[in-house]
Amino acid sequence: MNNDSECKKFMILRKIKRKIIRPVLQLFVLFKFRLENRNKEKFVCPACNYKGPFKDLLLPTGRSVKHMKCPNCSADVRHRIQYLVIMDILYSRDTSRMKMLHIAPEVFLRPFFSKQFAEYEMDDLEMENVDHRVDLTRLPFEDETYDFILASHVLEHIKDDKAAIKEDRRVLRSNGIAILTVPIVCEKTVEYPEPNPYEFNHVRASGMDYFDRFKPFFKRIEIITSDTLPDQYQLYYYTDRSIFPNTAVRLTFFTTI
Ligand SMILES: [Zn+2]
Repeated sequence: MNNDSECKKFMILRKIKRKIIRPVLQLFVLFKFRLENRNKEKFVCPACNYKGPFKDLLLPTGRSVKHMKCPNCSADVRHRIQYLVIMDILYSRDTSRMKMLHIAPEVFLRPFFSKQFAEYEMDDLEMENVDHRVDLTRLPFEDETYDFILASHVLEHIKDDKAAIKEDRRVLRSNGIAILTVPIVCEKTVEYPEPNPYEFNHVRASGMDYFDRFKPFFKRIEIITSDTLPDQYQLYYYTDRSIFPNTAVRLTFFTTI
């Protein structure tokens, strides 16, 4: 058998694996999960329209999180709220001429954004296969380059977050939108003396007062929290009370224009 036919055979097998075996296996795993968790509370995933129980998750920090992940598309709490907010914002806008910068780009959103926007760029300091690997506090871009910026759960990792917010605003066009989300985990913002290894190396715990830091830079600010959206999507971060004193951490989306 020559190399060509070997190669053809390999390609056919790969296609069968991708198009048939993997989806069937996934259906079986999902069926098994539904059966084993049939008495659990049921929710809806806005990202893939799955309806049923969600997966609990034990985080590396030792915290157990209830109803965290969609078992069908793996969207977790923040992905689901992110999806709802973004769909709502983009619904009435023509994105076909807009340029987007996606910082710390979530994999599940990349195909959607690259189709939706005329130009789509990704930035992350550590990820492979992104367009830019640049520091958010010193963006090497011209003023007013982008129409839409998304940086979800990024600012709580940056010590000089005011510089990052200022840079976001600088590279945003005058009528552009930045979605800058942070987890709200306490009443009043606490700056940690060093990155907290028990909180994914966050450098602060943000409270609702955190949003005051945006005021010097943005002319309009909209705060969207878990409790303003339907409960059927499960947009809370439930933690095990025996391990962590808070039962539900509210996630907050911070939209600036
Ligand atoms: Zn899903």
